[in-house]
Amino acid sequence: MKHILWAIMPMIFLASCATPQIQTKVVEKVIRDTVYLEHAQDAQGHDIESSILKNYKISNQHYPAKGQDYRQKFLIMHYTALHNDKSAEVLTQQAVSSHYLIKDYNDDEIYVLVGENERAWHAGVSSWLDRTNINDSSIGIEIVNLGYSTIDGKMRFYPYPEHQFKKVAELAQDIVRRYEIDPTFVLGHSDVAPTRKEDPGAFFPWKRLYEEYGVGAWYNDVDKYKFLPKYSASDYNKSSFIKSVQADLAKYGYGVKQTGTWDDQTRRVIMAFQLHFRPSNYSGQLDAETWAILQALNDKYRK
Ligand SMILES: [Zn+2]
Repeated sequence: MKHILWAIMPMIFLASCATPQIQTKVVEKVIRDTVYLEHAQDAQGHDIESSILKNYKISNQHYPAKGQDYRQKFLIMHYTALHNDKSAEVLTQQAVSSHYLIKDYNDDEIYVLVGENERAWHAGVSSWLDRTNINDSSIGIEIVNLGYSTIDGKMRFYPYPEHQFKKVAELAQDIVRRYEIDPTFVLGHSDVAPTRKEDPGAFFPWKRLYEEYGVGAWYNDVDKYKFLPKYSASDYNKSSFIKSVQADLAKYGYGVKQTGTWDDQTRRVIMAFQLHFRPSNYSGQLDAETWAILQALNDKYRK
């Protein structure tokens, strides 16, 4: 009797529960590799988009192929450098767009401008590792933030309010989980287009995103301190050293040519790297800490 009661109790609880029932997909039967579902859905429960034809029926029986993965490889963060209404206007009316728009209001709304399976135009000419044209393989989040002002010849970025960061973080966490996006493929626009872009800027909290939400990449402090004493300041202007730094940046993902000189493209890439991983100083000039962080990241993610 006792056992029966324990078995019935959850049913009683569920029956009296007022919360709406979450619809779960029901696997009706499995014959070898063919999974028959109520609707054609992928492993994550998304409806599978397919043709609707006049003369033929597309079967709603799902024959999942082993050879598949997600087209969404990257999550790219941006700031709009515009106020709320203007951001929405530009991103919906002009030839630029993003999948999501997060305004800076302290509310609980996030806007979808482009479906996740569609391509939004947010990254432009861009690259990471051996991939180019990142629009093809990314989800873009535009965050309302005024960008930067130039004061005394220096770029001064605007911070992100806490309520806005929390929205970004929860959304990013969900996207990364659903598409199994690699930590080192969660990036800023400046990472994939370093010679043209600075967004999402020095105040975007990449470290907090990593530590509090498990999203994106970050180095281990212990590795940074391991590499710091290995930095050789006397090599700074040697072509071989500059080439090695350019190679290290390229190894992590940045689009940089190995010229062996501290040229403008290299300065911009170092600045993009600093904006992401060492935002206390984003001069674009290599220093010991920047170098050690780069080594620590490659040690952790690119072995
Ligand atoms: Zn951008």
